[in-house]
Amino acid sequence: MALEFNGVPVPAEGSAIDFKGETFIVPHRPIIPYIEGDGTGRDIWKASRRVFDAAVEKVFRGERKIVWYEVFAGEKAFKRFGEWLPQGTLDAIRQLRVAIKGPLTTPVGGGIRSLNVALRQLLNLYACWRPVKYVPGVPSPVRHPERMNIVIFRENTEDVYAGIEWREGSPQARRLIDFVNALLSVDGAKKQVRADSGIGIKPISITGTKQLVRRGLRFALDRDLKTVTLVHKGNIMKFTEGSFRDWGYQLAKEEFRPYIVTERESWILDHRAKNLSASLEAIAAMVEPGLEVAPEGVRAQVAGEVKECLEAIQATHGNGQWKNKVMVNDRIADSMLQQIQTRADEYQVLCTPNLNGDYLSDACAAQIGGLGVAPGANIGDGYGIFEATHGTAPKYADQDVINPGAVIRSGALMFEFVGWPEVGALIERAFAATIAQHRVTYDLERLMRMEGITDAVKLGTGAFAGAIIENMSSVQAQAV
Ligand code: NAP
Repeated sequence: MALEFNGVPVPAEGSAIDFKGETFIVPHRPIIPYIEGDGTGRDIWKASRRVFDAAVEKVFRGERKIVWYEVFAGEKAFKRFGEWLPQGTLDAIRQLRVAIKGPLTTPVGGGIRSLNVALRQLLNLYACWRPVKYVPGVPSPVRHPERMNIVIFRENTEDVYAGIEWREGSPQARRLIDFVNALLSVDGAKKQVRADSGIGIKPISITGTKQLVRRGLRFALDRDLKTVTLVHKGNIMKFTEGSFRDWGYQLAKEEFRPYIVTERESWILDHRAKNLSASLEAIAAMVEPGLEVAPEGVRAQVAGEVKECLEAIQATHGNGQWKNKVMVNDRIADSMLQQIQTRADEYQVLCTPNLNGDYLSDACAAQIGGLGVAPGANIGDGYGIFEATHGTAPKYADQDVINPGAVIRSGALMFEFVGWPEVGALIERAFAATIAQHRVTYDLERLMRMEGITDAVKLGTGAFAGAIIENMSSVQAQAV
């Protein structure tokens, strides 16, 4: 490993985290690079780091310790190196594998390479991991926020976020429109793209879909969860979002067959169990309402699907055995946005293309207390960058008032990711205990007051971190 990045020596007392055979190998003194972040990032990082160090100390009693290593991006990097994102920062994160970052200013006028985009491409951070779990006591706009305990895996590298788009009137947009319109004419389609359109491209690939869904399924299996839901808009965008759904099911059957059942398979198996003499056609009609008026080819196709399913998994999944498997189902994105408000407890893991995931994760986060408490991460195989989803909230910078909860909980995820789950769990429990005591930062105190809670105590950023640390001993004792 290099001895320095950005001219800053790598601390000699630590060593790098390694990754072999799908597992992190974490030394007792792992070096973890951090980007402090701009604006309130400074307040948040100071507070969060204290919480992380205290949790590691509590769990491992001095035997293990994080060796923090500062790397630079954003305003701090610009002031120091004249660059918003020095190459040394990218190199350090690639070599040290796991990093945590505060929010960064997006300079007005552009001209900066986005750190997130650069790192996603460099390290193939193909999944945005957003757990959304309610912490009792956090004010919520919904009546039953406790029903929300969903983990979202949002595809992170493609879809309309691939950045392939051209402005209306540009030579590229014109060429593309002419090309598409010529193709549409050959197909005899009536559709034509209007000449005064801007053009964007929405790629969704087998590779991108499968690596994401694989991540979601492994997560569910590792944690004994019951359902994985593919969220898509495949009824409209058949060859992108519809294919996302199809490839997701395909992967589930190819790689996880003994452990999963699809929702449709569960219907077939259930009908067979309830009626042993039913013909394939009769089961097909029950699985697909309205099939009796469908064309003969469609009826034959569904009957074929029933036959194939029974031949493949009746022995291993039939007679109710499927109830012990992970259920893989799919939902249309717009209906999912309703269901997270009305029946959130029916869902556990959501795998989504990029845009759906963007909307859904913010909508879910709003139900459990919003920006100040919603953690996140960008992860790939052997790499992860942990960060809150909020920005730099510049008007509160250096005032010691901002809520550090989202970064603290992102750190808890980081510990879980590298295989120190007991540290992550301790942070989460101590965070929850502090909220339950109504010791909170201004944002939550404001919401609590609006809800008629009169005993909320408003703490600064550092004091809130201090309260979390204070609660670690009691929650640790309760857990034993
Ligand atoms: P923002 O920084 O997220 O802040 C908007 C508002 O959200 C704040 O004024 C505050 O609301 C609330 N908020 C955000 N973080 C909070 C926290 N930790 N605790 C409590 N309340 C919090 O969004 P912005 O003002 O649109 O963006 C500011 C800068 O951040 C921009 O340069 C933007 O490009 C950048 N940004 C960076 C990232 C990133 O690096 N990941 C992400 C988003 C935005 P109240 O005023 O109501 O209390």
